[in-house]
Amino acid sequence: MQEKVKYLIIGQGLTGTWLSYFLHKQGISFKIINDPQTVSATSVASGVINPVTGRRIVQTWMIDILLPFAIDAYKEFQENISVAIIKKAPILSIHPSLQMKVSFDYRLTHDNVYLKENDTSSLEQYFNAPFGSGEIDQCFWIDLIQFLKTGQQKISNHFIEAYFDVSDMTLNEQGVQWKNIIAEKIIFCDGLNTMNNPYFKALPFVPNKGEALIVKIKGLAPTNIYKTNITIVPWQDDLFWVGSSYEWSYSDTLPSKSFKEKMVAALDAVLKIPYEIVDHFVGIRPANTERRPFVGLHPQYPQLGICNGMGTKGCSLAPYFAKQLIDHIEHGKHIEAEADIKRFTSILSA
Ligand SMILES: Cc1cc2nc3c(=O)[nH]c(=O)nc-3n(C[C@H](O)[C@H](O)[C@H](O)COP(=O)(O)OP(=O)(O)OC[C@H]3O[C@@H](n4cnc5c(N)ncnc54)[C@H](O)[C@@H]3O)c2cc1C
Repeated sequence: MQEKVKYLIIGQGLTGTWLSYFLHKQGISFKIINDPQTVSATSVASGVINPVTGRRIVQTWMIDILLPFAIDAYKEFQENISVAIIKKAPILSIHPSLQMKVSFDYRLTHDNVYLKENDTSSLEQYFNAPFGSGEIDQCFWIDLIQFLKTGQQKISNHFIEAYFDVSDMTLNEQGVQWKNIIAEKIIFCDGLNTMNNPYFKALPFVPNKGEALIVKIKGLAPTNIYKTNITIVPWQDDLFWVGSSYEWSYSDTLPSKSFKEKMVAALDAVLKIPYEIVDHFVGIRPANTERRPFVGLHPQYPQLGICNGMGTKGCSLAPYFAKQLIDHIEHGKHIEAEADIKRFTSILSA
């Protein structure tokens, strides 16, 4: 028997989960397809929202708008599932060099909203911190494992576990058909898999490999994120996520010996207390040359939409842009120009 819905969403990572959350909230019909065997960046990400970036410690793109939106959205999500998924976790920045200390201190006194001084003596029991430390306020940790799990439970009546093959989809004037489902719009939130999609593969994706270790560190307070030339993020109980690498060029997607050795050297240099490595995993970030999301409807096939390209900042970008896409389709609202796929009209129409 055929089933009609307004939306068919492909992929239940950060982006697909937010899209389904907002559709569910507005009572709009949808189905969401996810294949647990395909690569998911969300399932290995550390889940940090950090409002500043880079060696110059500047504010990230649109953070003044994205951050309050994301905090409200995750808190609302959390209230709906009665499981804690968002936690305020200031980053204690342990300066890895004199140059980074100078950079932090400069930013502290210039155009700074998010930086604070920090009393390094409170860290000295756990860390070697010869160049001192500072604090980045308004940082949050999202429990992405719980987010994906509870997000799926919440919409279980709409969820289909399957691999979606674009060649099984047919387009018509009313929308799309996939197996027994007829939808007005199909929205691709399938991360890097979109690179194989004939309708969207011209978008300038540049996959980025990132590795991380899960490390047991007994006694370290899980109330903060610790950042030096590596990032140490509270994970569960006395486990911490430690990473990461950013590789634009790589020959395989396996955990590497060289990454592990690099992390061990960095942990040995910075930590004063014992640790034990318990896991090592890899993810591929759906990044792109512009470092801006891909949001909107296909210029030639308006039945096809995309919400993707979240790169290294999915936790803060995904809720905001999932909502923008729905508001655009349902109410004709504007999509942020730098994120709108209209900017690729010529290559998508070629
Ligand atoms: C090591 C690492 C650390 C990171 N740390 C952070 C961080 O601290 N903060 C932050 O904001 N971001 C971080 N990121 C980036 C973040 O993970 C991504 O921006 C975000 O997860 C992208 O979400 P997505 O839903 O667009 O894609 P994905 O999470 O990749 O989701 C795509 C989904 O689609 C499904 N799928 C794909 N193809 C198909 C198909 N054909 N049929 C059915 N299902 C399919 C996949 O199974 C998956 O569930 C990190 C990434 C990595 C790799």
